[in-house]
Amino acid sequence: MANGKNRKSPSKKAFRGLRDLAVYALIGLAALIFFVNLSGGSKKGTEVPISQVVTDVKDKKVDTITVEGDQVTVKYKNSDQTATSRKESGESIYQILKDGNADPSSVNIQVADTSFSQTWLSLLGTVLPIALMVGFFFLIFRQAKDAGQSIFAFGQSRARVFSKDAPQVKFADVAGVDEAKKELEEVVDFLKSPQKYKDIGARTPKGVLLVGPPGTGKTLLSRAVAGEANVPFFSIAGSEFMEMLVGVGAARVRDMFAQAKKNSPSIIFIDEIESIGRMRGFGISGGHDEREQTLNQILVEMDGFTPNDHVILIGATNRPDLLDPALVRPGRFDRRVVLNLPDLEERRAIIQLHMKGKPFTKDVDVERLARRTVGFSGADLANMLNEAAILAARESKKAIDNADLEEAATKVKLGPQRKRMQTEDDRKLSAYHEAGHAVVGHFLPQVDPVHRISIVARGMTGGHTMFPPTEDRSNERKSRLLEQISTALGGRAAEELIFRDVSTGASNDLEVATAIAREMVTQYGMSDLGPINIKSKGMIGAFGNDPDEPNTISESMQTKIDAEIRKIIDNAHIQAQKILKENKIKMDKVAKALLEKETLDTDEFEKIVGKKKKSA
Ligand code: ADP
Ligand code: MG
Ligand code: ZN
Repeated sequence: MANGKNRKSPSKKAFRGLRDLAVYALIGLAALIFFVNLSGGSKKGTEVPISQVVTDVKDKKVDTITVEGDQVTVKYKNSDQTATSRKESGESIYQILKDGNADPSSVNIQVADTSFSQTWLSLLGTVLPIALMVGFFFLIFRQAKDAGQSIFAFGQSRARVFSKDAPQVKFADVAGVDEAKKELEEVVDFLKSPQKYKDIGARTPKGVLLVGPPGTGKTLLSRAVAGEANVPFFSIAGSEFMEMLVGVGAARVRDMFAQAKKNSPSIIFIDEIESIGRMRGFGISGGHDEREQTLNQILVEMDGFTPNDHVILIGATNRPDLLDPALVRPGRFDRRVVLNLPDLEERRAIIQLHMKGKPFTKDVDVERLARRTVGFSGADLANMLNEAAILAARESKKAIDNADLEEAATKVKLGPQRKRMQTEDDRKLSAYHEAGHAVVGHFLPQVDPVHRISIVARGMTGGHTMFPPTEDRSNERKSRLLEQISTALGGRAAEELIFRDVSTGASNDLEVATAIAREMVTQYGMSDLGPINIKSKGMIGAFGNDPDEPNTISESMQTKIDAEIRKIIDNAHIQAQKILKENKIKMDKVAKALLEKETLDTDEFEKIVGKKKKSA
């Protein structure tokens, strides 16, 4: 996460600089136009060719010639008459007169220093572009310097070294993930005493792949390995290889391996490795040459390790399915350590770890927190506790209380509260929409109890109804999935029932419902198409279409799939409407309570609709 930020800020700065520069350039341009108008407008008299001036001088008609830059003003003898002319820039009026066989000494020639506008004009014309260019290069240099490299050091790796004496992360700073730690202990031991392994002729590990969803501690854990073994840690994100020109990535890889070998034993950490190690030979998206060259270079370097190099690669990814098979062959990233979202016990451990050093009120219960945060990653939990502390501090509390934690947990998952202007109609619509979700969910036995309903806007949503899982389920049943679809459609169903009209507010609900239905049909064999898996890589799934992968499903099959999805959604919709019709009075009461209080918790909700009947 921090990597991304570091890379972004200099370019932002450069952008600001460029913007300033553009402002100055505009001011300069305006001044330029002003001066041109000024010098043009101040001249009177008829415009004559320069040859006419020469003739007039020869005829002794001229009294004075005033030269301002290229402007020539002629004052005639015995009259107030003047004329203007232009001379070739760079040529002197003396020369022009002489060339025309006129006698310069017969007239008064004044080369005006007052021709301030002309001088400025030409000066500006010369200086401005140079200034712009210098400024531009200055900015580029500064940006390059901020990014920790010279502009000419394209090929050098940007890997950052966390030296031995930097503040060290240890395994104790990573909670839960005991299995992963155990597997990595071997790596630590090898880095600590490589000789032991060499003596006995053991094939030493080369590459370890950490696989897991975002925020599960992959980066943290690999830093902890370096910390435990007390070795230098070279870290780079896969996307950083892909930034500039073709061939740069490969050069960076070479340089990074050279540095790591020089400092061995050491660790090279490549984050987001799927962005380089993506399968070759597919697709239409650009940057493939660069990616391939970089990947090849990594493979070459890994194969070139000698047993004495003592460099271990750790790669992190949340999309192992995208990795090139060459990367995970024996002798390369052949060890895989999987990190999952933390279960109840692990969440408790992570929460406890991050609670350290923060004051809490007595009624804050770790166990309850851990139960309430099913589906949270380690990073979510760390965030939640930090947000809670910020909330408490903002209100100058002495300790963090349950309300802070509840608000923080909601904020982490749904974004901050958004105060916005709502018409009374909007609020009423939101209230019925959320009441619809809540009531439908409440009367379906397998849906988790309502935890909180709110019509306070947050992030992208106008309101929310939360049914956080009360237990860690490893399997979903068809009947429960159907109930979830009905619940998701409850908001829309309530709008139809009360307003005889529908709003755009349900679009996310429809997306969720459709995604579940699609997975039921295509992945879990839970439809009338039977127990087959027809998931194709090219299909539009919950995560959208991947243009890099071909579609392998026939059109007739696609039609059948669509029909099955339609059937599931329609039935769920009918079920939701039925529940709401039967419980309309309760729904009205919930909506009214929401309009009054904006947010209801489990107790307040169940006071209106009764206790939830759990399924057996
Ligand atoms: P990933 O690299 O898997 O996306 P990170 O290692 O960057 O996740 O985790 C982000 C933050 O979340 C860590 O800095 C840490 O504060 C917290 N965190 C994640 N997992 C754990 C864990 N198992 N124990 C303690 N803290 C964790
Ligand atoms: Mg990470
Ligand atoms: Zn909704």
